[in-house]
Amino acid sequence: MDFVTEELAARITNEIEARKDELIQLVSKLVGYPTVSPPARNSSKIQHYINKYLMDLDFKTERWEVYPGDSNVVGILPGDSAEAYKSLIINGHVDVAEVGDESDWETPPFVLREEGGYLYGRGVADMKGGLAGALLAVKVLKDLNIPLKGNLQLQSVIGEEVGEAGTLDCTERGYKADFAVVVDTSDLHIEGQGGVITGWITIQSTETYHDGLRRKMVHAGGGIHGANAIEKMMKVISGLQELERHWAITKQYPGFAPGTNTINPAVIEGGRHAAFVADRCSLWVTVHFYPNENYEQIIKEIEEHIHLVAQSDPWLRNHPPQFKWGGKSMIMDKGEVFPSLEIDPEHIGTRLLVKSYRNTLGKKPEIGMSTTVTDAGWLGRAGIPTVIFGPGKLEDAHAINEKLEVQQLVDFTKTLAMFMAEWCNTQKEEKEWPFQNGSMKN
Ligand SMILES: [Zn+2]
Repeated sequence: MDFVTEELAARITNEIEARKDELIQLVSKLVGYPTVSPPARNSSKIQHYINKYLMDLDFKTERWEVYPGDSNVVGILPGDSAEAYKSLIINGHVDVAEVGDESDWETPPFVLREEGGYLYGRGVADMKGGLAGALLAVKVLKDLNIPLKGNLQLQSVIGEEVGEAGTLDCTERGYKADFAVVVDTSDLHIEGQGGVITGWITIQSTETYHDGLRRKMVHAGGGIHGANAIEKMMKVISGLQELERHWAITKQYPGFAPGTNTINPAVIEGGRHAAFVADRCSLWVTVHFYPNENYEQIIKEIEEHIHLVAQSDPWLRNHPPQFKWGGKSMIMDKGEVFPSLEIDPEHIGTRLLVKSYRNTLGKKPEIGMSTTVTDAGWLGRAGIPTVIFGPGKLEDAHAINEKLEVQQLVDFTKTLAMFMAEWCNTQKEEKEWPFQNGSMKN
């Protein structure tokens, strides 16, 4: 039987409705920390605040530095019967996008403004609204003395805006659960996502020639078997375009416009000086792929195709392009990975989230695919069934005068509180038990 009865749903709803001001205050508090990334390395204070907020609610927390000045916080509220009941991860990032020229904003971006039913400030939609809603949801469940039998885990992470994968660090530390909700911007849709990987393709000559030798390299009777790395990169770029078109024609995935799986030559660097023949050229590419693909497979397809392109060129055949894929930080490594995420509408976690949404809004939520990427892919890749579900619209995220509708934030908080109560009071399947738990990190 479901744990959240109509009566309990009404208690949760009324309590959150009555504490709307407290919720807005909490958003205001979080927005007040200017955790802009890049440059990042500025999240210690907000993470200290969230750590304390969780400890005050009896969470057992761990906080560790991912980079100097940027720490992750993971808190676990131990369930009364954690071996037998389902565990949940709520994940959100504390970093926010750059603000650009602050004078373009109607009011200062780090001072929350409420006007006409909306909250304004950097990060309200992406995603301090979602974080504040999650924190208040837990507090309300506590204050109403609603017990949670399974473990509830809150991950407050860094680095999402610059591909620093604070979330990957959590999964690498062994933090797991039976289900995860990433409360990033989704306009209250339940979403999965495609994936992104960036990479560098480099053509390097073993010889460096003076500009004056070009004639001997490119004309009849010249005799120098050399090449200009920039010119050779043209072949690689046109090869990538062919592959991009082939993918657009042959691959598709429900919820995405055809050809969403692009290969963008984003940055090119090459040559040393006008007096030399370019002996090196590097291309930075951004690759989008579908939820049913993984980045290892994508890397393989690109490398194999470019390898064949190189085989058809007498010089490239002996100087094959080199690849460097991904990276753990756009700032440190000039590279990032966001794994893709499929969602299963029939999974019991998705179904109970739909039910909680229905209890709040009296209708079915939209289930689909995000047009952007979040940390949700890392949780999915760690084997945790995961969805993206958060307040705020994507067109407001990263925008000047970023905004979030108050009513949507309140609805989100109600839905999430009900879902936490429902999920953490759902028994683990017999067959899973007791093999998948027993550790605090569950
Ligand atoms: Zn985000």
